[in-house]
Amino acid sequence: MQALRGTQDILPNDIYKWSYMENIIRDLCALYGYGEIRTPIFEETKLFLRGIGDTTDVVTKEMYTFEDRGGRSITLRPENTASAVRAFLEHKLYGDQGVHKLFYIGAMFRYDRPQAGRYREFHQFGVEILGASSPLADVEVIVLAYRLFQKLGLQNLELRINSIGDKNCRNAYKKELISYYESQKDMLCEDCKQRLYKNPLRLLDCKEDNCKILAKNAPVITNYLCEECHNKFEKVKSGLTALHISYVVDPGLVRGLDYYTNTAFEIQYPPLGAQSAICGGGRYDKLVEEMGGPDVPGIGFAVGLERLLLALEGQNLIPNCPQKSSVYIVALGEKAEIEGLKIQGELREKGVMTYMDLQEKSLKGQMKQAGKVQSIYAVIIGENEIEQGKATVKHMQTGEQSEISFSQVADYISQENSINK
Ligand SMILES: [Zn+2]
Ligand SMILES: [Zn+2]
Repeated sequence: MQALRGTQDILPNDIYKWSYMENIIRDLCALYGYGEIRTPIFEETKLFLRGIGDTTDVVTKEMYTFEDRGGRSITLRPENTASAVRAFLEHKLYGDQGVHKLFYIGAMFRYDRPQAGRYREFHQFGVEILGASSPLADVEVIVLAYRLFQKLGLQNLELRINSIGDKNCRNAYKKELISYYESQKDMLCEDCKQRLYKNPLRLLDCKEDNCKILAKNAPVITNYLCEECHNKFEKVKSGLTALHISYVVDPGLVRGLDYYTNTAFEIQYPPLGAQSAICGGGRYDKLVEEMGGPDVPGIGFAVGLERLLLALEGQNLIPNCPQKSSVYIVALGEKAEIEGLKIQGELREKGVMTYMDLQEKSLKGQMKQAGKVQSIYAVIIGENEIEQGKATVKHMQTGEQSEISFSQVADYISQENSINK
């Protein structure tokens, strides 16, 4: 049996890398005032059809959708924004009319072609701010993502930002875009021909060569923003500048999801090559309403953790797992085992990591094991020790030995010898 394609096991020797990333993320989110939210791994399929948009690739090609035994259509979450908004509505968090700052870390699922840093079961860290219309919220989430990557040690980050306007100005822009593409329709790929009238913005991020060429000369949305949208975008930019965060305005950055408004952004880490985008996000002022809720603005981002890990490993930015000092109890015979168990319990009470043989090994085998796990001390209890009521405590590096009565061993090791806890 093997793990499915596009999934992976994270074994105990590697888990510290994940803990390392997640601890830094949690600390930073706490500092910025975000509360963690955990939503179910699976939801009703219609949540994602509505929340992500039923013309996006995610929904049409990549969802893990199945019928459960009750005949309901269920989908493994392909992202977490729709679920977070569903929870926000279900629990009426909007009732206080305040600002809700949420973050999540968890597994998402997309049936995509697996490659370096891209899995079918993958993990995302993301934040959502609900109820904040000020461009300061846009600045805050961008800064949070940016500072996270800096804190982890990544340099030469590339922040790309754009504004895709709102309903007012976007419609005028869409018309321009459609007439631009209509005049060169023959060059478009089949997908783009199909979506030209439905969702012309998506032609701008098509990956087909010809479409890419056309996109380069297409009219840019920032020239079509209404005054309000233009001012908002300026505020976002001046906020970033004030914080010395450099950015590039990228008019091709339109995002694949339908509910986005105004700010869209992406943070790239160029050494990752084709998969260089490590964070994508933007404002989605129309999503909550679209999902049946009140008119509540939203903004957020998501970071792919597998890809982030790849970036960190590539630069050796993950500190080695600190080796914890330990004690190994070597016990021979039933009475010795009982004494050993008691001492182990006392040491653990004092916070000292303690091993004991679980394989009924010989004395020699147990001593070897104590060396293998790099214990500082071996506490040896054999027949002699049982007779005298004292254990032999051996310092593994110096070879120094002391006879310590059973009841004193834990104190001796933890106090007199300041073992690193
Ligand atoms: Zn195309
Ligand atoms: Zn506008």
